[in-house]
Amino acid sequence: MIVNLQSVLKDAKDKKYAVGSFNVYNYETIRGVIESAKESQIPAIIAFGERYMENMDFKTVHAIVDTMTKEIDIPIVLHLDHCKFPENIFKAIRAGFTSVMYDGSHLSYEENLKNTKEIVEIAHATGVSVEAELGSLAGGEGSNEGAEDQNEIYTNPIQAKEFVSFTGVDALAVSIGTVHGMYKGEPKISIDVLKEIASRVDVPLVLHGGSGTPEVTIRDCIQNGICKINVNTEISVYTVEKIKELMTGEKTYHLSNISLKTVGYVKEIVKKYMSMFYR
Ligand SMILES: [Zn+2]
Repeated sequence: MIVNLQSVLKDAKDKKYAVGSFNVYNYETIRGVIESAKESQIPAIIAFGERYMENMDFKTVHAIVDTMTKEIDIPIVLHLDHCKFPENIFKAIRAGFTSVMYDGSHLSYEENLKNTKEIVEIAHATGVSVEAELGSLAGGEGSNEGAEDQNEIYTNPIQAKEFVSFTGVDALAVSIGTVHGMYKGEPKISIDVLKEIASRVDVPLVLHGGSGTPEVTIRDCIQNGICKINVNTEISVYTVEKIKELMTGEKTYHLSNISLKTVGYVKEIVKKYMSMFYR
């Protein structure tokens, strides 16, 4: 069943676990996430970003997710990840997405505040949840979100409190030291900043850049208010590596077999993170 973000994050916040948000780009990745959720009996968020609209349109993504989740009883959220353009948010809502992320982190604080509030009003009228972002993540290796030279701007806890109460967002993505992509050196995550934000803000907090973050840090983040963790880069990096290994072997594969193997590789990463987040 497809549900909205608010419903799964409420349970996560109450019971102190995090729901994994896994980026999908095609049929194989969608199937990988849904089968992982079904086999592990753990809720999942299927995240599709506007940057992948050339790969699949929103209606097609929704049709696949809707069909594949009809028979399963574990909650699945269909979420629009990192969306800078309001027109794409409305398109996703019309296509049946149950959750959207408006990313106004490139705008001035005032503009981000105003746009987010408008989007929340429209989305809530149709029962769709909204995630927004304050602060800005740095870009890591192999990132497909933002540039590698992007600088880190930590979320300001005082601004976060005002932002959440003014806009009415359902979840807030915070910047505390994780990066989009793989870490270039040792990750420097500030649990202190997270604690400051969590003490002022009531809504579930979101951690972007989950790929490669050490398990101990993940546990610490979950204990201190993180209820949704995004994983993108590692799904791609791992799967591409495994396909490369296949290709260098003696055997020539039929494309249909590569598709099935891809689903399997995606599941390995998704299940690894699911069991790390859900404890
Ligand atoms: Zn992100």
